[in-house]
Amino acid sequence: MHDPHSVMFITKRPEIEMVSGKGSWLVDNNGKHYLDFMQGWAVNCLGHANPGMIAALESQARKVINPSPAFYNSPMIELADLLTKHSCFDKVFFANSGAEANEGAIKLARKWGKLHKNSAFEIITFDHSFHGRTIATMSASGKPGWDTIYAPQVPGFPKADLNDLSSVEKLINENTVAVMLEPVQGEGGVIPATKEFMKALRQLTIDKGILLIVDEVQSGCGRTGKLFAHQLYDIEPDIMTLGKGIGGGVPLSALLCTDAVACFEPGDQGGTYNGNPLMTAVGVSVIEQLTAPGFMEEVQAKGEYLKEKLLELSEKHLLDGERGEGLLRALKLGRDIGPELVENARTNNPIGLLINSPRPNLLRFMPALNVSRDEIDQMISMLDNLITQAPK
Ligand code: PLP
Repeated sequence: MHDPHSVMFITKRPEIEMVSGKGSWLVDNNGKHYLDFMQGWAVNCLGHANPGMIAALESQARKVINPSPAFYNSPMIELADLLTKHSCFDKVFFANSGAEANEGAIKLARKWGKLHKNSAFEIITFDHSFHGRTIATMSASGKPGWDTIYAPQVPGFPKADLNDLSSVEKLINENTVAVMLEPVQGEGGVIPATKEFMKALRQLTIDKGILLIVDEVQSGCGRTGKLFAHQLYDIEPDIMTLGKGIGGGVPLSALLCTDAVACFEPGDQGGTYNGNPLMTAVGVSVIEQLTAPGFMEEVQAKGEYLKEKLLELSEKHLLDGERGEGLLRALKLGRDIGPELVENARTNNPIGLLINSPRPNLLRFMPALNVSRDEIDQMISMLDNLITQAPK
């Protein structure tokens, strides 16, 4: 292992380097293999070293890497076409991270408010939501403690309670321009919006003449068993953001909206790497694979399979059940042993397991969407042993 002292400290990392990966497996510098049910926090939707993505990267790198965002390029156009063809949206702006796509959504909503809603600018967001780590997206997030770390916050993000329509209604006033939410709160602990709430929220925003923004950075791109998570609810939002899965592991994100909302003028929005062909070529490969016949049905079937297996585990160990959609699921542990299980899973020998605990009483699973049933069985069997050994 190289000496990492020049790498800025932001979090505790184990004393290993990850050196290679294939599908659901990662390998460290000691040759130890890890079954990866985290996949870079729901990023590598096609697993590690996906051949289609590698081919797209190699072939595009040989053509042109960055002609500048001042020009169109074909992967940018092709990916925008694919995304609009498979969704209710008409226009796409590409960026590099989920936070940046959400910043774009916030700017677009405020601009629309300036033009059409007497400069209304407030965007109602939700407690325990997560929208990114820029100052504006931290302000939009409802993560406990984030209101004070870099105070003062960006104003204009009153917080409602997920699945409580009256908490939203109470916050709407003449300054309100939009409501923004994750269809499934990911970092907050894998909490899906209910169908009833989402449908009522769409109707409420229509009635009040305000925008509905869905942050699908974590829940989009097939993660929930639908190409886009809001499709689970049969609703059509005004704005959607994508990140993580859209690049399958490379830095790519997107801001999508309907024609009625697309109101940026020259100078309003941009970014050095927006729509760069190297990343959008990978995005094309990802979306083509996700929309291949039968792929999404398999994600749904494997989501059900994982759910069944987690419920069996919960029954066996007297835990609190599970929740989630598709292949974004959480096991409710009933006690605060999540961080310990995550550590013991990673250090398990000879094979490690990579899982995550967004809350101490929860484990979260975000495997590759092409994970096999055998790999799910292997993960469950490792977890079974780890829970057996955990303190009661
Ligand atoms: N929005 C949601 C729902 C997320 O889960 C995340 C990251 O976890 C983000 C936004 C931020 O994405 P990024 O880390 O790519 O900026």
